[in-house]
Amino acid sequence: MAETHTFQAEIQQLLDILIHSLYTEREIFLRELVSNASDALNRVQFELLTNHDVQDADAELAVEIKADTEAGTITISDSGIGMTKDDLNNNLGVIARSGAKAFIEAAKQSANSGAAQDVIGQFGVGFYSVFMAADKVRVISRSYKKDEPAYAWESTGGATYTIEPAEREARGTDIIIHLKEDAKEFLQEWKLKDVIRRHSDYIAFPIYVGDTEEATNKQTAIWRQEPKEITDEQYNDFYKMLTMDWEAPLHRIHMRADVPLQFYALLYIPGSGERGILNPRKEAGLKLYARKVLIQEYAKDLLPEYLQFVQGVVDSEDLPLNVNRESVQANKIMANLKKTITGKVLSDLKRLASKNKEEYLKIFAEFGRFIKQGVAVAPTDRTDIEPLLFFPTTTSADASELFSLEDYTSRMVTGQDDIYYIIGEDYHSAARSPHLDAFRQRGIEVLYFVDPVDPFMLMGLDAYKSHKLRNVDEADIDLSSVGEAKADEKPARESLAEDTFEALQNHFKELLGDRVKEVRASKTLTGSPARLVSDESGASRQMYRINRLLDKDYELPVKTLELNPRHPLMHNLSQMLAATPENPLIKVVEEQVFETALLQDGIHPDPAAMAARLTLLMEAATGTASGDLDFTDEQ
Ligand code: ADP
Repeated sequence: MAETHTFQAEIQQLLDILIHSLYTEREIFLRELVSNASDALNRVQFELLTNHDVQDADAELAVEIKADTEAGTITISDSGIGMTKDDLNNNLGVIARSGAKAFIEAAKQSANSGAAQDVIGQFGVGFYSVFMAADKVRVISRSYKKDEPAYAWESTGGATYTIEPAEREARGTDIIIHLKEDAKEFLQEWKLKDVIRRHSDYIAFPIYVGDTEEATNKQTAIWRQEPKEITDEQYNDFYKMLTMDWEAPLHRIHMRADVPLQFYALLYIPGSGERGILNPRKEAGLKLYARKVLIQEYAKDLLPEYLQFVQGVVDSEDLPLNVNRESVQANKIMANLKKTITGKVLSDLKRLASKNKEEYLKIFAEFGRFIKQGVAVAPTDRTDIEPLLFFPTTTSADASELFSLEDYTSRMVTGQDDIYYIIGEDYHSAARSPHLDAFRQRGIEVLYFVDPVDPFMLMGLDAYKSHKLRNVDEADIDLSSVGEAKADEKPARESLAEDTFEALQNHFKELLGDRVKEVRASKTLTGSPARLVSDESGASRQMYRINRLLDKDYELPVKTLELNPRHPLMHNLSQMLAATPENPLIKVVEEQVFETALLQDGIHPDPAAMAARLTLLMEAATGTASGDLDFTDEQ
């Protein structure tokens, strides 16, 4: 007795689009079904190695495609893992692919512009793509598990499907496709062979079409082929099949190693670092084969954590076949594979960064944050990662112009030994920082570390080659013998007399109390009234930002406030202090000087809180007698 079930709503939408599509390349349904068959064969192959209780253990692992002209059907059969009744319900009643959901969205959007069919080819819509060519599909399947009976699933692509007991002697799956009137071309053997050769040539199992005894596909896994024999299209097709990502990859690395380990690897860097609903594969990790047998779908031990965005296939000649996953992980061969593959990925990216910076920067824009983390979490890879780091600097024409550490060191000025960087919230606020006054004046380049992960990176990056990395807000930076001071563009005022300055300094100190370590005169500031400097060193000084990034509680670091004794604001303040020491405006301004410095360093805990004070200051500046203003909140 057949049971009738209703498709998940998304599948109904998907089917509706596929059935009515006029997509010219609907032959891709064959590729999708053959790919499913190949997955099913891979999975049973693994069971055969690890499990002794497999139905029909001796059956040849293969795919067969037969056309029946009279019935108007083609049947795709495999001796793969098969499906139980529950599997049929779960796999062919709900959407398995995340790509399918995104497809529905894209198709709906382009449907409005009358181009629904254009998006089909960009997505792997899987099993359901068969309804582009079929008006009825029957799936008969028998699981690899002994004593599981065969069942048939059937649907005409409407809102429902049926499931009923069926006959199938051996393990595996038949997909019986009743072709639409206008899809009868697929009954022709040559047509089937042509499509298989074009789209499924590298499937590792033989595909027999019609009665021919010879497999139609080459069966060479694409990663085992010579790169020069593979077209870009084939590479990209394989990537799409592997990852279910419909965007083309940004980069690929096809490698073959012979000593000390023999293996093949085909690795890809996806087009986008965005995950979420468009999450291409379910998990990170490479597909691991041992002599063409898939032994791990998501092998995470082949690349370090920071390179997990890399997708692809590794096929080893050395790994023992008959192993369980736990011992694979423990295996020494795995450690060696990881080392070799990691080295290859890093050196390949390095080569790209120096040969084709533009291409490399596309990768860096998507995955730079992972690469930067590598510096901190994988100290042994540090020198290999360094050439992969790029930053905007004070030399950049805009935020998008990035330079390497090598670019930086090659431009160092006379007497310069250290590399200087500034940490900021973003390019524009960093560029306005008072810390840069002295560097600009002496023509010294400064790196902008404005990516939230940069403070993390710094935990592992204290120097590049022999050059120390130093934060421009370090208290003891002496630039007097570095570069050459340019004459001030805007001549500064005279410095305040020492005792005048001291009075101002004490007033600030009294107001700010424990919030600053010290208040002192700055030797380096030119156009800015004040800045905060810090004499902590090393990683601890980054903890504040890191904690903030991790959303943990954090305490504001206590720093030294440097005042510019040549700045007009300091002149005005000290005059006010001498003439009307009780004027409440003095403290309000001093508070704002301090908070502006916090803001400029991107560490103000609550910038919005400044609004009330700024309003008061504007009132004062526009003429209200300061005596009438209510400054009680400020005391
Ligand atoms: P995907 O292959 O991306 O998971 P599909 O919609 O193509 O999505 O297939 C859904 C599921 O149906 C598969 O994940 C698999 O579990 C099952 N399936 C499809 N074809 C076969 C087959 N020939 N043999 C065994 N299982 C299959």
